[in-house]
Amino acid sequence: MTTIGGCYVCKRTFSFVPDSVTVVTIDPETGLPPGMTVLGTFREPTPEALARAVAEPICPDCVGRATQLLESSAPRFETWHNPDKG
Ligand SMILES: [Zn+2]
Repeated sequence: MTTIGGCYVCKRTFSFVPDSVTVVTIDPETGLPPGMTVLGTFREPTPEALARAVAEPICPDCVGRATQLLESSAPRFETWHNPDKG
């Protein structure tokens, strides 16, 4: 059972399964994830920000880009979970 929605990042309309879609938690007041500042830095989110935050769906294209971004900037760990193995 899929539904249609807009990707929060690129605003593209795509179909997804609500139970398995990747979502990002957004604080409606800032338009950013709770704790994330407009400067791109991260600080401890306030309880208020967490309470008003809503989950927004992200399309597979944007998930892929975000994953690449993380993989290129974050250090790699030998124990990193490999989804190909069981
Ligand atoms: Zn997108």
